[in-house]
Amino acid sequence: MNMESCEDSGVIKTIRCIVCPTGCEIEVKETPEGDVTFEGYTCKRGLEYAKQEFYEPKRVLTTTIRVENGFLPLVPVRVDKAIPKEKLNDALEEIAKTVVKAPIKMGDILIENVVGQEANIIASRDMKAIE
Ligand code: SF4
Repeated sequence: MNMESCEDSGVIKTIRCIVCPTGCEIEVKETPEGDVTFEGYTCKRGLEYAKQEFYEPKRVLTTTIRVENGFLPLVPVRVDKAIPKEKLNDALEEIAKTVVKAPIKMGDILIENVVGQEANIIASRDMKAIE
């Protein structure tokens, strides 16, 4: 039985590629010389995904924002571009401090350039104002 640990084999992270349904498992390894290598991807898109996920993981944030004068008290929102994972909490804090006014149209920009990441928070649905 092979009892080699991740450390011994040089694997520093395993990333499941989510670009297509094949779901290749990509191993990120460090060579004894200190170089980082990627193994297990079967196409260029997978390599690009693994590099992005390893060096600067990004996520699409979805949540809600409070609405004043709206048919409902909250409107679902999302970022129009993935933002760095480490900025998600800062973005959520900025969103929590925000109250927007109805009426709102799906796609309206509710917060521009959220946490300085050149991404906007946009409405995921229409929200009528109460009469
Ligand atoms: S590496 Fe290529 S084939 Fe494999 S899951 Fe990613 S995109 Fe699909």
